[in-house]
Amino acid sequence: MNYQAILNEIYEELQPELMRGRVADYIPALAEVEKGQFAMTVTLDDGQVFSVGESSKQFSIQSISKVFTFTLALDIYSRELYKRVGVEPSGNPFNSLVQLEYENGIPRNPFINAGAITITDTLISHYKDEYKTLEVIMHFVRQISGNPKLSFDSAVAKSEMEHGDRNLALARLMKSFGNFENDVINTVMTYFKHCAITMNTEELSRSMLFLAFGGRDPISKKQFITPSQAKRINAVMLTCGHYDASGEFAFHVGLPAKSGVGGGIAAIVPGKMSIAVWSPALNKYGNSHAGTLALEKFTTKTGLSIF
Ligand code: GLN
Repeated sequence: MNYQAILNEIYEELQPELMRGRVADYIPALAEVEKGQFAMTVTLDDGQVFSVGESSKQFSIQSISKVFTFTLALDIYSRELYKRVGVEPSGNPFNSLVQLEYENGIPRNPFINAGAITITDTLISHYKDEYKTLEVIMHFVRQISGNPKLSFDSAVAKSEMEHGDRNLALARLMKSFGNFENDVINTVMTYFKHCAITMNTEELSRSMLFLAFGGRDPISKKQFITPSQAKRINAVMLTCGHYDASGEFAFHVGLPAKSGVGGGIAAIVPGKMSIAVWSPALNKYGNSHAGTLALEKFTTKTGLSIF
């Protein structure tokens, strides 16, 4: 299949859509990102990379980082992890407080904010402090992305903390139910820092490749997690990766994928490839408008989906 031609076609067809939607302005540092930008990359197991648009431009991966922290926590805690966080779709916005109250402080899944903050909390408990935890997360993303220099944008993390009342409220609510082990401020700050990791679509697509191949990066040949763990992470991406639009995303795209409010979406085609797309203007669910359409076009044109 001529992936380059397909990506070029998608880019062309999406031009009228690129200005539609809104950039995430509840994080002031992200509100400054220009609309209208677009990049898409496909990475195959033999290392072939196909890109279109601004594929070397770094952006804030935001909630996509939750896939990487969930991976680390699952590897450490295994089934024990599910005592603290579920694996059910929430049907609610990513930062909702409502469900958390009536479900006694146990977040529905690791990809809504409450769940991801819990995951960060479990990592801090394991590694004993937040610095070591961040170091481990950064080491892991550097390994899977193949870029040893990958970093996070501290201005974005700081900006998010300055407007972080809702996430702090989620953490405090969980603490009130006894589902929180570490200092709330330090934990939420660590969460903001991993959300502020910057990558371009080439790095992001490479980072997800191990999930498309049973936990093993086919390029570096490193086995990061077991095939069974990869299967579970992919299942949670499929059912919860786009919050209250997860059903719609599965319906239109048909791939396990995770979005972030920086406008990125990372998807995998099991046994075949990983795909990353970025376009900063978001739809009403907080998922990239053009990014979602691009993936829908990709699975339609290629016939690749898990269904
Ligand atoms: N850091 C963001 C937040 O906590 C992540 C949200 C997202 O990407 N959906 O609100």
